[in-house]
Amino acid sequence: MILGTIGIVLATIVTGLLVDRKWSLLPRKEELLAAGKPRPLLPGHGPGESAGTAIAASPGELFALRRKQTCPRCKAEMTATADDHATYDDQELLVLTFACPRCQTVKSIYITETEH
Ligand SMILES: [Zn+2]
Repeated sequence: MILGTIGIVLATIVTGLLVDRKWSLLPRKEELLAAGKPRPLLPGHGPGESAGTAIAASPGELFALRRKQTCPRCKAEMTATADDHATYDDQELLVLTFACPRCQTVKSIYITETEH
């Protein structure tokens, strides 16, 4: 009787694992397909590229963001220019701006500042 119960429990667990594996495989395949597709290169849709996709950054992350910008066109190291501010959706945004010394491309990163 006890063995029978254990058998049922084991069968349930095994079925659960199989179902789980089957379901988790499907999204993975979709992710792979999505990754293989060329991404649209429209400006203003990536994280931080527009007010609507502003990224949250702490003072430490801000510091890193200011130093690590490469030109999206020629990959040269970009120079930070004067910070700007914007309001979006009743939220105050910090706008970091960068200029490429080589090809004059400019880039803005929209930030919502966080304490930590
Ligand atoms: Zn450049």
